[in-house]
Amino acid sequence: MLLTILSSLAQDESRSISENTKWGIRRRYENGEYGISTKRFIGYDIDEDGKLKINKEQSKVVKRLYAEYFNGKTVDYIKKIFEKEGVKNWNGEAKWQVSTLKSMLENEKYKGDALLQKSYTSDFLTKKRTKNKGEMQMCYIEESHEAIISPEIWECVQLETARRAEYMKKHNLKSYSRNTEQNPFASKVICGECGHAFSRKEWWDRYGGKRKIWQCGERYKIKGVEGCLNRHTDEETLIKAFMMAWNTLIENKEACFEKWKKQMESEDLLKAYRAKEFMKYMSLITEFNVDFMLKTLDHISVFESGMLTVVFLDGTEVEIK
Ligand SMILES: [Zn+2]
Repeated sequence: MLLTILSSLAQDESRSISENTKWGIRRRYENGEYGISTKRFIGYDIDEDGKLKINKEQSKVVKRLYAEYFNGKTVDYIKKIFEKEGVKNWNGEAKWQVSTLKSMLENEKYKGDALLQKSYTSDFLTKKRTKNKGEMQMCYIEESHEAIISPEIWECVQLETARRAEYMKKHNLKSYSRNTEQNPFASKVICGECGHAFSRKEWWDRYGGKRKIWQCGERYKIKGVEGCLNRHTDEETLIKAFMMAWNTLIENKEACFEKWKKQMESEDLLKAYRAKEFMKYMSLITEFNVDFMLKTLDHISVFESGMLTVVFLDGTEVEIK
């Protein structure tokens, strides 16, 4: 009996300590001081007053990540690039996790804001932390510290993530892009007849060389049964179509400029920002460049008639016959 009372007293004690700690943490946040560890959190250090201060070297990595992602790369591809180039993580090693990069792209601290109490101690006895889904009051502090990413770009990156999810859903894709360095057109060639993505195959030509061709993924979905009857296309044709389409834009520079100027005033932040970026790319291309394709191309539709439609990320469509 006595033992029970004692332990429940101890519990009460523990609860009130826990509650006090919560209160303390919140007060410190309100004063701009952080109880968070910046050790594994790249981009910031904590100064002697406990405030977040930009770490110059690390902030370059954060900026690069946001730019590469906005320019059409996936986190999987960015991870490979970072590791190949020896870009250093918080511990000085050139090793990156896809999940870390993903959460960095969603972290509001990079635009100078702070969402407090994203998680809380749900069990004050075991000190277990739980994700806050509204049980606890969260407070959002704008401009709580210096930003590394402008709020405009940060917002555009969130919209870009949503756009990619929408794109994948529409074309029944598992990933926005995969194995980009070997196959940059993956997920970007769409069947104009049935809406599914094309996939790449290698065919032997009559001279014993290999030829990369693209074919509707629905063609032989059930083995031995012909599905979608759309024709195949050569990778060379796709490259040429992309270049021709882009150069057509440049040849119609004035009209494009007018269009982008209007688009820059759009309420759709992503659309407006994309138009602003496109204005910087105003030159003819004479050779195919993967990075340039990734940041400008939405997709290429292939039709049975042999026509190709090149759709750019700013929404412009160019038909190639
Ligand atoms: Zn098809």
